[in-house]
Amino acid sequence: MSTILRRKDLPYCKGCGHDLIAKNTAKALERMGLEALDVTVVTDIGCHGIIDGCLNTHTVHGLHGRSVALGAGIAMGTGEKGNKIIVFIGDGGSTIGLQHILEAARLNLDMTVVVHNNMLYGMTGGQTSGLTPCGFKTTTSSEGNPWSGYDLCALAHTSGAAFSGRVAGVGDISGILQEAFETGGFSLIEVVEICPSYGVRLNPGKKLREIMEDSGRLPGRWVNDRKPFMIEQGKKSEDLLSELKTIAPGNNVPPGNAVSVILSGSAGEGVQLAAGILAAAAVSLGYHVTQKGSYPVTVGVGFSTAELIISPRTVMYHGIDIPDMVVVTSDDGLEHCRRRVEAMKRGSLFIDSSLECPPTGAVVVAQDFRSIGARNAILFALFRMAADTGILQPEVIRSIALESGLPATVPVDKMMELATGRAATGTP
Ligand code: SF4
Repeated sequence: MSTILRRKDLPYCKGCGHDLIAKNTAKALERMGLEALDVTVVTDIGCHGIIDGCLNTHTVHGLHGRSVALGAGIAMGTGEKGNKIIVFIGDGGSTIGLQHILEAARLNLDMTVVVHNNMLYGMTGGQTSGLTPCGFKTTTSSEGNPWSGYDLCALAHTSGAAFSGRVAGVGDISGILQEAFETGGFSLIEVVEICPSYGVRLNPGKKLREIMEDSGRLPGRWVNDRKPFMIEQGKKSEDLLSELKTIAPGNNVPPGNAVSVILSGSAGEGVQLAAGILAAAAVSLGYHVTQKGSYPVTVGVGFSTAELIISPRTVMYHGIDIPDMVVVTSDDGLEHCRRRVEAMKRGSLFIDSSLECPPTGAVVVAQDFRSIGARNAILFALFRMAADTGILQPEVIRSIALESGLPATVPVDKMMELATGRAATGTP
């Protein structure tokens, strides 16, 4: 029984080369003496990607063409701890994300990319990909592809990959896979196969080796004698992280349940800043917090919304369906969260009094938050929310707001006083 694979019957069409790759990958890893959790497999979109659920290894399922970038991040973050990073990708994904492959090869990141090259997009109906050979028929080139496919191994090799290899996907290919896995630095194996469902049907009688010979994409190995990427070379990314402001978390586990909060206003009106202040205030009291911002691609116009979950326990999922508390200070902001406000059956809504309040089951507090200036309206409403609901003490929000480097023109103390009826005292 394989320690890497969870099951023998893999969920591919009969005769699919992906089955051979998965089983030979497992065989090579087991021969190397690796435990399943020594390995992280990153998959891409495509038929090959359904292997995730069949593996005992760590698995990450990436976006189409982006699995190499994901693998690169994992390799930089964990590679030195002895994890083996393997990226499974199809011919479609590898041409969509070609730049990621070239960059990982150029840096010589310690990872292996296994390209499942069946010369077309199998999962979406057999369309031509960037690796489809000239003359090969697909559902989008019924007369045969008029262009040659990329020579992926040549591209990886000339970009600096420590090891590149191409092999026909027949028989035992665990040897060349093992060679790639044992390479220090970047390795790429292109396994050429024919998808029985489309490739075989559209190209009857064509043999794999004949296609490889005709296209000039012959089996082979190409080596660059290079040292793998060392984390010292990537110090810059560490520097970026060190620029992040740290918040001293509170020691005590605070009481209560998780609370979900939406702050919604207009771009340029300090919504994300206020959300950051609320998040930092909660963290300083010992809460776990997630913060997520949404705004249109054209930053600077339209809505700006922040979603926070504040919890005494670790937050496992940062999505909010129906919130517990909502603060809305502009038309744009209201439109963006209207559906969720209307769905509230309880909780609290703090809404600027200039806005028409939608039907909602939440307790509504309407106040002229914008009277203190549009750019300060959300923070003002935050003080009111804190005072009314007791979610956090307004004094803690004040303290974090004053420490956050807000311009002196932002009347933090006045906002707190107006919201709570208590005068602010002392400096943080
Ligand atoms: S459609 Fe093609 S690539 Fe996808 S599982 Fe079936 S044979 Fe394999």
